[in-house]
Amino acid sequence: MNSNRTVLAVFAHPDDDALACLGTIARFTHADYQVYVLTLTAGERSNTAIGRTRLYEAENVAQLVGYTLLKDDLTDGHLTFNTEMVSLVEKYVKQLSPQVVITHYPQNFGYGHQDHDSTAAAVINAARRAPCVDWILYAEPPVQDWGFLPNLYVDITRYMDLKKQAIRLHESEGSKSYMLPDIATMRAQWWALQNHPDTYSNGRYLEPFVLVKGLLGLDPFMQVEHA
Ligand SMILES: [Zn+2]
Repeated sequence: MNSNRTVLAVFAHPDDDALACLGTIARFTHADYQVYVLTLTAGERSNTAIGRTRLYEAENVAQLVGYTLLKDDLTDGHLTFNTEMVSLVEKYVKQLSPQVVITHYPQNFGYGHQDHDSTAAAVINAARRAPCVDWILYAEPPVQDWGFLPNLYVDITRYMDLKKQAIRLHESEGSKSYMLPDIATMRAQWWALQNHPDTYSNGRYLEPFVLVKGLLGLDPFMQVEHA
């Protein structure tokens, strides 16, 4: 139905998409969008990573959810917003012609992960100049969400269990408290409450975004699923 519609999510590390927006990605894949998740590094600096374990885990998540994982080989911890990085992202945008682009929420003053901030800057720079891109969204930071004020929510109630399953597949990162599936549930409940008290009391789960730009149309992305 929407096989000519494409979503490109660009993140720094192999588990970033699972925490930030897995439910939304699942909604897109189940609405027959072509979804690509690009991880710019293998996450090799993580204490728990062994070799390229994190990429294998991300591949398992991609198969579970039904999207295509793209892997670049920039150096974990050293992503820098510069011409080379913008050109790299631009290459993927030109190749895939996405209508929707999702990336990290940039946190100023070094408060967030430096790789996330650099990724966000490069993605926004490349995506805003691409005529195919109608929607650009910043996704929720995994922790330390200083300054994150969402203005767009996606109902992921139907995919909450899938999101937790995906997070569990990132086993090598499992010792980090923000990787606990129950934390993902709490966060999705919190955002439901922020959207509207009844959204929470109706047992729904939401993922939050900051809308960078959007071109409104008749699009499944805009349809709200009511429980
Ligand atoms: Zn990350």
